[in-house]
Amino acid sequence: MAQHRSLDEFLGGGEPTEDEEPSVSELDGLTRTYEWCAEPRTCTGCGEERQQFWRVDDRLVCPGCKKW
Ligand SMILES: [Zn+2]
Repeated sequence: MAQHRSLDEFLGGGEPTEDEEPSVSELDGLTRTYEWCAEPRTCTGCGEERQQFWRVDDRLVCPGCKKW
């Protein structure tokens, strides 16, 4: 009876693959620019009219609503 189990049976088999690199954070992909509006515009965050805005991901939010 040659019943031997090679180490390869243990080491070669179920090796977990961790190739999934974390994608770049969505927040880092947002374009954030400061904008000043001549006419007051409604903040998409708090609904107040403001003239100073941050454009975050194509939305206008006042500095108070801006979350980094
Ligand atoms: Zn706001």
